[in-house]
Amino acid sequence: MDIKLLEKLTSFGSPSGYTTNIIKFINDYLVSLGYMPFTNQKGNLYVKVSGDNDYTIALSAHVDTLGLMVRQIDNDGKIMFTQIGGPILNTYDGEYCKIHTRDGKVYTGTILSTSPSAHVYVDARTKERNCDNMYIRIDEVVYTKADVLKLGINNGDFITIDPKFTYTKTGFIKTRFLDDLASAFLLLELLKEIKTYNLQLPNNLLFAFTTYEEVGHGAASLPDVNEILVVDMGCIGNGLNCTEEMVSICAKDSSGPYDYNMTSKLIDLAKKHNLSYAIDVYPFYSSDGSAALKGGNDVKCALIGAGIHASHGMERTHINGLKNTYELIKLYIGQK
Ligand SMILES: [Zn+2]
Repeated sequence: MDIKLLEKLTSFGSPSGYTTNIIKFINDYLVSLGYMPFTNQKGNLYVKVSGDNDYTIALSAHVDTLGLMVRQIDNDGKIMFTQIGGPILNTYDGEYCKIHTRDGKVYTGTILSTSPSAHVYVDARTKERNCDNMYIRIDEVVYTKADVLKLGINNGDFITIDPKFTYTKTGFIKTRFLDDLASAFLLLELLKEIKTYNLQLPNNLLFAFTTYEEVGHGAASLPDVNEILVVDMGCIGNGLNCTEEMVSICAKDSSGPYDYNMTSKLIDLAKKHNLSYAIDVYPFYSSDGSAALKGGNDVKCALIGAGIHASHGMERTHINGLKNTYELIKLYIGQK
């Protein structure tokens, strides 16, 4: 696997609503492989691969991530933010970030609590980390709101977070936003394999790289397909069987159960081919499958993904988890 490509995907900074750069990269990459990708109005990117019959399976992964947006600039020049999606803000405390102005300037900064110094604030350790108690310390000499405005920064500017991508000798991949860039990466690897080996598949495939999953409506509208296999992060933790080395098959999440036949087929394939897998029920989760169904699409829907530890915090997975997930996707699309 070309892990450098995964690292590249994490380098853009692509919170929901600010995905143009990553979508352009994926578009150009797919064109270079010989595909003809296209987008819908809100910016989801699709690629069709023709199969031998007229049944169409959508494979989706979301390229939008969590992030922040400038909410207000304080009189003393503190940049206050609102969150995009559902981050664990405690894990953002101390992280480096970038502020992207609407006229294309980029400023660096650090996400901090408003009681950031142990020598000054009695509540430096105990203050709750939330949007009211945190701010961006920008790496510019600013003392007032006017100083910040002069830089061209304004409410509504996007803030992206240092991905800190690390691939360890032991096979772990640590970075922000493996949810769901790890899955987008797997779909790109699959598209490369299909082209390289000129694979002929039984069903039509529609690859969907969606851009608003973290805010709930990524795949809410879909081109006409029969079913959708959502590839998104597998949950790890209390009451769950999955590890970072496994592919997780989600039977049910907060939005309800996934399609019985699709899910059973995925389990059968994983079992038959000795993949390392887990079947789990996710307690606090919904996906582009939920969005597709709630959006009124008449589709069957299932969900799989590599086990991602500490999701929406400082995430980690293992190369074996990616490989097991890749194999299961391939087995599934090879089915008649
Ligand atoms: Zn996700």
